[in-house]
Parts: sequence; structure tokens; C-alpha cells
Amino acid sequence: MALMITDECINCDVCEPECPNDAISMGLAIYEIDAHKCTECVGHYDVPQCREVCPVDCIPLNPEYVESQDQLMAKYHQLTNKKIKIS
Ligand code: SF4
Ligand code: SF4
Repeated sequence: MALMITDECINCDVCEPECPNDAISMGLAIYEIDAHKCTECVGHYDVPQCREVCPVDCIPLNPEYVESQDQLMAKYHQLTNKKIKIS
């Protein structure tokens, strides 16, 4: 599953630079997670890095993007291949 940021976000900016997939960006009012880029940090870290740093604990799982560990790993490989092709 991808993660999502709720409206409890206080725009503290600390999660954005921690995301290895560049999935977090400022939205219209609060920070947002691009569900197509979020792998729950699978492939990079053991635990979601954004959750580790969020001071208000406002990053739950996104129920609209149900994915297994295998699917998240496949997503990680897809994102990594894309990065290699661009650079
Ligand atoms: Fe980025 Fe990891 Fe948070 Fe997903 S869980 S938004 S990949 S830091
Ligand atoms: Fe919002 Fe939490 Fe990210 Fe801070 S760390 S910008 S409160 S989601």
C-alpha cells in the first residue's frame, strides 16, 4: 500500500527530503504523497522514512492503493529503472 498524508499535517517540511522515491511534494494546502511513487520505502529501507520523522503522526496507509510486498518491490524496480534511464 502507498501511504498518504492527512490534513493533520503541519507543513513542517521534514518528510519531503527523506523520501527515497521523491514521492512527497507540497500540495495546495499540505504535503501530499504520489501513490504511484510510494513503495512504503520497500527496496530502500526497512520502515517508511516519512513516518519515522513526522512529528504529528499523520501518515497512514492509503486504503485506495492496496499492494502486496511483491508488488511494492516490483514498483521499486520500475522506479529505479526509470531513474537509471533518465540519468
Ligand atoms: Fe516516500 Fe517511503 Fe514515505 Fe512512501 S513511505 S512516501 S516511499 S518516504
Ligand atoms: Fe506534514 Fe508530517 Fe510531512 Fe511534517 S513530516 S510535512 S507534518 S506529513
